[in-house]
Amino acid sequence: MLPSFTEDHVIFRRSVAAFVAKEIAPFVAEFEGNGEVPRDIFKKLGALGYLGIRLSKEYDGSGQDFLYTTILLEELMRCGSVGVAVSIMAHAEFASKVIDRAGSPHLKECFVRPAITGEKIGALGITEPGAGSDVAAINTKALRDGDAYVINGTKVFITNGTIADFVTLAVRTGEKGHSGISLIVVPLDSSGIERRRLKKTMCDASDTAELFFTDVRVPAENLLGSEGDGFRLIMEGFEGERLVLSIIACAQMRLLFEAAKTQGLERAAFGNKLLGYQVWQHRLADVLTRITAAETLTYRAIDMYVRGVPANAEISMAKLFSTELAHRIAHDCSQIFGGMGLMEETAVARLERDCKGFTIGAGTSEMMRTIIAKSSGLAP
Ligand SMILES: Cc1cc2nc3c(=O)[nH]c(=O)nc-3n(C[C@H](O)[C@H](O)[C@H](O)COP(=O)(O)OP(=O)(O)OC[C@H]3O[C@@H](n4cnc5c(N)ncnc54)[C@H](O)[C@@H]3O)c2cc1C
Repeated sequence: MLPSFTEDHVIFRRSVAAFVAKEIAPFVAEFEGNGEVPRDIFKKLGALGYLGIRLSKEYDGSGQDFLYTTILLEELMRCGSVGVAVSIMAHAEFASKVIDRAGSPHLKECFVRPAITGEKIGALGITEPGAGSDVAAINTKALRDGDAYVINGTKVFITNGTIADFVTLAVRTGEKGHSGISLIVVPLDSSGIERRRLKKTMCDASDTAELFFTDVRVPAENLLGSEGDGFRLIMEGFEGERLVLSIIACAQMRLLFEAAKTQGLERAAFGNKLLGYQVWQHRLADVLTRITAAETLTYRAIDMYVRGVPANAEISMAKLFSTELAHRIAHDCSQIFGGMGLMEETAVARLERDCKGFTIGAGTSEMMRTIIAKSSGLAP
């Protein structure tokens, strides 16, 4: 089931495709080598309005629906780097969307407007060394002191952590458990913050950091909503984040399929093109069938999300199925490249490596199964 893309969507897709081909694809190896997407790219994306497609018109966003994010991601992925897509989404979708949704007009002026232009880059800080899947166990404390909060704690695995100007931070303002969690926007040039870049084994173009907060004073007006709203805001945000990963996984599998098909049509062994052998025709037919199933599940979840229909289980199914499938597809598609599929210089090798994080970020596969089980009466 394909989403009902309008003429406006098609025009938008064409413009993103042209931008990606000219401004991103030729420089991907450089971004991967440097371990980050340069600020300049955020500014260029901002100038074209791509960072604000889902953000409020009052702050120069375009207030569009998630289908535009879907198109943006599908086209960004044509650059062949999952890290590029993840870094841009961590900024526009994960860190900024929730400020747009729950922040005061002052906060939106200070953070959403410059996020839309790309002048300020955002990160979302939830995970801690002692709390990942179990978000309710976070322990970074924010204590009220006059007109400020004083923050102490550590966050880990934070995408854009070293390049960001602000972090939308999950903190504990109250008692143990989910009701004591709040979200607060923290400028990353505040005194008392240290950052450590982490070296990953995948997604090299998206930088990842550990953030240390020692007596960091942040104006109390930087709180999103009220004290105790954080857990609900995080859970609501997870829906978009999980769809983002499903879309990235589907786009990555499509790239792998296209690469494998080209290789099969061009590469010869024992006097035949590889796709002259029925074993490869059948293998790639299976690959295509499975990708189509993942896309169908993902588009169905997107459609429900866009229409405002509760879709927690469907989104979890889409994320679980497409991100787990990506490993298998990457293996099958890389195999037809023989030794070349293992060489650093090939897009296939990078895509195979990058799919590892899909089943961890924005909720692990085990958490997706737990959500599906609970919503289907499987967890008495
Ligand atoms: C590349 C990358 C980028 C990331 N970016 C961000 C970011 O920008 N911001 C941010 O806040 N976080 C980010 N994360 C963190 C990510 O959200 C967490 O890694 C994820 O939620 C899992 O948490 P954990 O690593 O602490 O693993 P744990 O929660 O410790 O889980 C370890 C294992 O135990 C399993 N497990 C846990 N609980 C149960 C259970 N009840 N039943 C069965 N199995 C269970 C998990 O599924 C997993 O397999 C990122 C992670 C990665 C890898």
